[in-house]
Amino acid sequence: MSTDSGIPDYRGPQGLWRRDPDAEKLVTYSYYMADPEIRRRSWLMRAEIGALGARPNAAHLAVAELERSGTPVRVITQNVDGLHQLAGMPDRKVFELHGSARSVVCTACHARSDMDEALARVAAGEPDPACLACGGILKSATVMFGQRLDPEVMGQAIAVAKGCRVFIAVGSTLQVQPAASLAGMAAESGARLIIVNAEETPYDALADKIVREPIGTALPALLAGIAAP
Ligand SMILES: [Zn+2]
Repeated sequence: MSTDSGIPDYRGPQGLWRRDPDAEKLVTYSYYMADPEIRRRSWLMRAEIGALGARPNAAHLAVAELERSGTPVRVITQNVDGLHQLAGMPDRKVFELHGSARSVVCTACHARSDMDEALARVAAGEPDPACLACGGILKSATVMFGQRLDPEVMGQAIAVAKGCRVFIAVGSTLQVQPAASLAGMAAESGARLIIVNAEETPYDALADKIVREPIGTALPALLAGIAAP
């Protein structure tokens, strides 16, 4: 969904984590908590991604437009870039399974604050900024490797999957659980399942429609066709 916005695909064949195996440590909770050097590099990585200045693309805008036009839309995403909200989707209708890189959270007192603030402190010379409230270790509000998904967000996502009329799985190989299972739950609950992905997925057999074209053009066309009358 976000590669058209210039956000790198971390897990794909050309993904960052394939090119630099050590990069995975930057987003692994145990390494992050244990090693100030990993935290320093992790903040630099966040600053680099932030500097990309990613903007919502045609697909994000089409989703937000569908919602604005009166068709109830909920977004369940594994992306942490917040681009759906920037495109105009209300925050409460976006379920971010892997959290958000637009916020930071204290690992001790759980206070949340803006990523921009933390990155400004990094730029000003604090390589590993501590929580201003309690001095605890700060991290991006994303779900790192070794952390579990937020059960509340996952519960909401399951309710959406079981209650929707159309479930569109976009740009996912549907191989990482439990997120992938949402497509199966939707189909079993009677929703039309539409899969938009360049490659085959394990859920293709359950799909009513499969689209292999690029997301940036395919999704706007698809959504225009399913808008409520
Ligand atoms: Zn704190």
